[in-house]
Amino acid sequence: MPRTATTATELLNRYRSGALSPRDGVGHFLRRQEAVDGKVSAFLDTCREGIETQLKGLESMDKSVPLWGVPVAVKDNIVVRGRKTRCASKILEGFESPYDATVVRKLRQAGAILCGTTNMDEFAFGSSTENSAFQKTANPWDLTRVPGGSSGGSAAAVAAGEIPLALGSDTGGSIRQPASFCGVVGLKPTYGRVSRYGLVAFASSLDQIGPLALTVRDAALLLGVIAGWDPMDSTSADMPVPDYVKTLEGGVQGLRIGIPQEYFGEGLDAGVRENVELAIDTLRSLGAQCDPVSMPHTQYAISVYYIVATAEASSNLARFDGVQYGLRSSSENLLDMYCRTRDEGFGMEVKRRVLLGTYVLSSGYYDAYYLKALRVRSLIKRDFDEAFKRVDVLATPTSPTVSFRLGEKIQDPLTMYLSDIYTISTNLAGVPAISIPCAAGDPSLPVGLQLLAKPFDEATLFRVAHAYETKVGGPFLPDL
Ligand code: GLN
Repeated sequence: MPRTATTATELLNRYRSGALSPRDGVGHFLRRQEAVDGKVSAFLDTCREGIETQLKGLESMDKSVPLWGVPVAVKDNIVVRGRKTRCASKILEGFESPYDATVVRKLRQAGAILCGTTNMDEFAFGSSTENSAFQKTANPWDLTRVPGGSSGGSAAAVAAGEIPLALGSDTGGSIRQPASFCGVVGLKPTYGRVSRYGLVAFASSLDQIGPLALTVRDAALLLGVIAGWDPMDSTSADMPVPDYVKTLEGGVQGLRIGIPQEYFGEGLDAGVRENVELAIDTLRSLGAQCDPVSMPHTQYAISVYYIVATAEASSNLARFDGVQYGLRSSSENLLDMYCRTRDEGFGMEVKRRVLLGTYVLSSGYYDAYYLKALRVRSLIKRDFDEAFKRVDVLATPTSPTVSFRLGEKIQDPLTMYLSDIYTISTNLAGVPAISIPCAAGDPSLPVGLQLLAKPFDEATLFRVAHAYETKVGGPFLPDL
């Protein structure tokens, strides 16, 4: 049955006009969750007990706060005080966070109602959400397919209408690729735009938290709430946060859009290519000037990413040893306890990454792998610097394929890693990128258009994305 979705913006309008109360607005989404999450399995914890208290809290709050009464879900690697945060891993079984992540604190201050945590690949390692230790999430467009990953739970929950807004994290594409597979909007902010305090670290030099939503306007609204400098994260940037919603309508007339040729080569699915090219034509018809550009070091991005990301991950995950957090396996002595806890608590992909990361950092190999990867990372960043001297925005596919079938790639990590080919350079360079649904072509499975901009120029991404979305319509919703 075709359905209409309620966006955060519509919800706020109805609250403000008095047509709907937050209690009823939240109730609508909770009922939808109850009706469809049995099929989608997007949520790990629905936090039902805390909702009443949050709704009561709204009464003493200024109604003009940006998310007053809007339900929001967070990925299971973002800590919420007094709640379980497990990163979809057995190793964090029993862990309850003693504090709120900065993004969660900001959501609360903005009047959002936290309505649960969403499924993900364990510790955000993956592109299909199949690496969760707890459940497989289905793509709401086709329940036999993956929602993408690692923020697959957040993307699927938004696409299925279970929540209007969700947060994900993106280290190599984990917001954008699931957004593209599920037909929703997802943005990875510039590195430093959003505080990482309270995000369980995967690769600290690449990780960013960002919004998933049904429309560009909703994503802009959510980024405005979570962005900004934070004394608790030394890598967050002390830069003013513009009003992203205010500048949405600026259009694309005269804007220069670069089309990196390296993103349209071998391995790109023909249907995806066709959709993305049509989307670029639409931008051209709206007045943008689209020209080819070259990003010659793109071909090294996967190799560099899988050295840098695994090196950082192996170091970050060293803290999960049974002493401070979550699971502790019983044992006769300390060393054995460490080993058993990690053996029993971590899944296959986590072990693979820790082994890879430890290897590339091992003495004697540091120069050959890690240091070399850092050098090539600089070259990849330089490609972006050069391109942005000539153009304002880059347009590419988000992923080389549409959503694949559950089980199709899980036994073949290398093929899975190739899903990230168009998203990881962005993280290596630190620039912002958004994925929005392409409107044309086969409507049965969504395709994502990725737009990239200069550091801290998220406003331009939202403006271009909004112009496209206004032209082609949407949001597009699965029948579920
Ligand atoms: N799919 C990529 C990986 O497996 C990216 C994950 C992410 O962005 N968290 O590492």
